[in-house]
Amino acid sequence: MDLFEYQARDLFEAHGVPVLAGAVAYTPEEARSAALKIGGKVVVKAQVKVGGRGKAGGVKLAEDSNDAFTKAGAILGMDIKGHLVRRVMIAQAAPIAEEYYVSILLDRGNRCYLAMASTAGGVEIEQVAVETPDLLAMVPIDPLVGINLEIAKSIVAQAKFPAEISDAVAHVFVALWEVFTSEDATLVEVNPLVKTEDGQIIALDGKVSLDDNAEFRHPAHAELVDIGDIDPLEQLAKEKNLNYVKLDGQVGIIGNGAGLVMSTLDVVAYAGEKFGGIRPANFLDIGGGASAQVMADGLAIILGDPAVKSVLVNVFGGITACDAVAEGIVQALDILGDSATKPLVVRLDGNNVVEGRRILSEARNPLIEQVETMDGAAERAAELAAR
Ligand code: GDP
Ligand code: MN
Repeated sequence: MDLFEYQARDLFEAHGVPVLAGAVAYTPEEARSAALKIGGKVVVKAQVKVGGRGKAGGVKLAEDSNDAFTKAGAILGMDIKGHLVRRVMIAQAAPIAEEYYVSILLDRGNRCYLAMASTAGGVEIEQVAVETPDLLAMVPIDPLVGINLEIAKSIVAQAKFPAEISDAVAHVFVALWEVFTSEDATLVEVNPLVKTEDGQIIALDGKVSLDDNAEFRHPAHAELVDIGDIDPLEQLAKEKNLNYVKLDGQVGIIGNGAGLVMSTLDVVAYAGEKFGGIRPANFLDIGGGASAQVMADGLAIILGDPAVKSVLVNVFGGITACDAVAEGIVQALDILGDSATKPLVVRLDGNNVVEGRRILSEARNPLIEQVETMDGAAERAAELAAR
């Protein structure tokens, strides 16, 4: 999960990264009272999960609280690279002398963490990396050691920060490492980290990505979720405890076992090439002991996706035998009644397959079509979706 800047700011503050006063506002009125509370000049910043807000006109300086009201009115509702601005952050304005860049991220390719630092901040770091790579220090971090003050000083030295601020920047790195590990982040980035005219070092813009796999360790992170942004089908699946991921194709997929479902996605995408690029519409693993209710919940979610034109049920009977799965499909269609209208291609194999196929045949549901092989079923589902 990526955080908004104001949420990153709050985490920074909680772990001792130097930040300025800031508050989120959803209306111009809220912006005015936040500005009044902070006092003096403020910056009104669009809160969208995309970079380059400054260039797009989403960061504006305001002289006082009334000006903050006006600037917030102009920024709220803006479209920045396809993101609608629903909230702004009101932050104390900083007199900037220099802009730097620092970050810590998970380097999957090298199986370690990576600290990056540059004295060329404020601009997009990808640009620095391409045009002036000498100005970007990239330092691998041993996960078992982390970033202590000594290592932080070495990163700062490699990035050639001026001597008079190197200690302060090193302390920022140590605090950022604290954010990174204690919040289970995969990215913590500050751009710009600024030196103010009176020599203070402050994190002016922060970006944090949290590791969703560590969600269970952080009940407090639930509050950071942007509910307006969640895919409604994924939300529903989560409530039903289903492993569902929305994709952008037309064939709804249900299978048992993550490996089988993954290969079903591949087979459908491959078969779909013949039908003008038909692709899987989702990943859904109903797991080993799938009951009729689980099958019904899964089918309901898939059939609720307007992009789905056909459904492929691909089950290899194991502990839950094919007859139980077949009963589940029949009952699921009963439960769903008239809301089930899309063709279902079912491929059963494995434990009790003969009985399973017999149950489906005898149900005589016009929506159900059985195909014995996985490739054949994928092709038929793609063909039906292409109609
Ligand atoms: P981004 O464009 O989405 O990365 O948003 P930033 O928060 O990084 O802001 C872009 C630029 O606006 C910064 O690089 C600064 O130059 C400027 N800026 C942001 N906050 C302040 C501030 O408090 N005072 C001043 N003078 N400039 C600011
Ligand atoms: Mn920035």
